[in-house]
Amino acid sequence: MIGHYSLGEADKIIVFFTRDYGKVRAVARGAKRLKNRLSGRTEIFTYGDLIYFERVGKDLHTINSFDIIESFQKIKEDLLKMAYCSYIADLIQHVTPESEPDPDTFDLMLSAMYLIESTADAEMVVRAFEIRLLERIGLNPRLDSCIICSGEINDNTPKFSIQSGGVICGKCAKLGHHAFNISYESLEIMRKMANIPLEVIPSLNILESNRQEIKKILMGFLSFHVDMKNLRSLGFLESMEKDKF
Ligand SMILES: [Zn+2]
Repeated sequence: MIGHYSLGEADKIIVFFTRDYGKVRAVARGAKRLKNRLSGRTEIFTYGDLIYFERVGKDLHTINSFDIIESFQKIKEDLLKMAYCSYIADLIQHVTPESEPDPDTFDLMLSAMYLIESTADAEMVVRAFEIRLLERIGLNPRLDSCIICSGEINDNTPKFSIQSGGVICGKCAKLGHHAFNISYESLEIMRKMANIPLEVIPSLNILESNRQEIKKILMGFLSFHVDMKNLRSLGFLESMEKDKF
């Protein structure tokens, strides 16, 4: 489940991201009462088997049962991991339409959660998640060749144009396309992050300077191409990351 809010005195509305039906909103009757059978099971970031009564033609359904498969306890005990997962859940809520099955995005989110639970390097898992989510929604940044002329990128300091949506070569950069510098190393890491199995990402040992560069580019890219204004988790994440150092 990826979100929840109150409904009256006793009920909660839970937002689930499901493998077979996409994003589903359902009422957990009595979930705010301590003794209710659903109260302990409807915590955020819990993965489980959901059975719900569908109300045909309505956006809001009713939960029948929810059996926990994984409660991601280590995430819940770590504020920084919580902040990363809140951000992931927020992004999913933001970019996926209601009730539209998207098993690949579901699997991406679930793999990212399992990795964040077990790794010390949640940050780069989140960066890889961002690249792959952008790809899922058809907005993947172009990283292989120049987005303007399709020419090869062989400069030591390639440029990245957020507006155009990818890397640009030295020649096109000289023509006045607005772009950031990105080190060749960071570009290589981004290419890897888009392609290698997610489980390998935490073992890449990425330098802080590359992390900062990749973060700046991906955050800029997301803010420009996906409306991020209403992502509350972003402020939480930023305050947690500041405390890290
Ligand atoms: Zn070019």
